[in-house]
Amino acid sequence: MRILVTGGAGYIGAHTSRLLAERGDYVLVVDDLVTGSRDRIPEIPVVSLNIANGSAEQLEGLMREHRIDAVIHFAAQKRVGESVEKPAWYYEQNVGSVAQLLLAMQAAEVRKLVFSSSAAVYGEASGAIAEDAPTHPINPYGATKLVGEQLISASSRAWPLRAASLRYFNVGGAGSPELGDTQALNLIPICFEQIADNKPPLIFGDNYDTLDGTCVRDYVHVSDVAEAHLAVLDALPDLPGNTMLNIGTGVGTTVRQMVDAILHVCGSDLTAEVLDRRAGDPAAVVGVVDSIRELTGWSARYTVSDIVESAWQSRQHFNAISARR
Ligand code: UDP
Repeated sequence: MRILVTGGAGYIGAHTSRLLAERGDYVLVVDDLVTGSRDRIPEIPVVSLNIANGSAEQLEGLMREHRIDAVIHFAAQKRVGESVEKPAWYYEQNVGSVAQLLLAMQAAEVRKLVFSSSAAVYGEASGAIAEDAPTHPINPYGATKLVGEQLISASSRAWPLRAASLRYFNVGGAGSPELGDTQALNLIPICFEQIADNKPPLIFGDNYDTLDGTCVRDYVHVSDVAEAHLAVLDALPDLPGNTMLNIGTGVGTTVRQMVDAILHVCGSDLTAEVLDRRAGDPAAVVGVVDSIRELTGWSARYTVSDIVESAWQSRQHFNAISARR
C-alpha cells in the first residue's frame, strides 16, 4: 500500500511509519515538526507542513503525486491543560486538520482512513469501557477528538470512505530508545523528571474506590499501538463507515503500582508523595478490547514492565545525547 501518515514524525506516528516501511509499504509523512523529529524516521520522506488551515489543495496534490491509497492521521495537539486555556485553537488544529484531510481525500479519491482518537472521548466514565459507552468528554481536547470522529462518520455516509477511529488508552514505552516520547505529559515521563530532580513522584489521590486507593488505567505499549494501526488498515476493506475501536490491553494498573515499577527501574530509593485528587480524573479507565480482536485478530503483547523498562531505556538514551551536547 501507499500510505500518507500525518504526524508520522511524532511518538506514535513514527513507530507506525517505521513498521509500515519495514513491511514494504510506501510511506509519505506530513508533519509540522514542532514536537515531531525527522531523527525518528531518517529513511522516510517528510513534507514539513501544518495541515490545520487551508492545506486541502496541497494535500490533494501530494495524494495524487504519490498515488496514495490510505491515510493515517496522527497529527494533533494533545495537551489537555492547554486545550482548556485555548479551546478555539484546539478546535482549529484538531478538527481543522481532519476537515482539510477529508476535503483532500474526497477530491483525490483516497478512501481509507485511520484516525487517532482517544479514550478522552469517554470523559469521566469509570470502569471497563466498551466502544458503545456514552461519550461525554470533559475537556476541549477530548471534545476535538469526538468531533473529529463525528466528521469522519458523516463523511463516510456522504462518499465511499472506509475509516476507523482508534481510541487510545494510556500509551507508553518505546519500540527502540530513539523512538521514545520526549514530552513529559503523562505519568511515566513525569515521574522520570521528578526522580531526575531528586524529588518524589507525586500520586494524585489515594482515596479512590480501587485496589490500593489510587487511579486505575490501561497502559498499552506504543509498539502494540503501532501494530494495531497496521492490523486495522488491513481490515478496512471489510469495515463499512467509521468503526470506533478501543486500543488498550483490557488490564488495569494502579498509579501506585506504576510508580513502584518506575522507582524500581530507576533504582531510586525515593518514596512517592500523595497529593489531593487531580480534577476530572475518573477512578478507573480500562478498555474493553474485544472489538479490535474480533475484527482484526490484534491484541496487545507487551506488559506494564515492558512499558516501564523500554521508557526508561529511551529516557537514558536522550539523557546521554543531551549530556554530549
Ligand atoms: N498521575 C499521578 N501523578 C502524576 C501524573 C499522573 O498520580 O505525576 C495520575 C493521574 O492522576 C492519572 C494517572 O496517573 O490517574 C494517569 O495520568 P496521565 O496524565 O498519564 O493520563 P490520563 O489517564 O489522565 O489520560
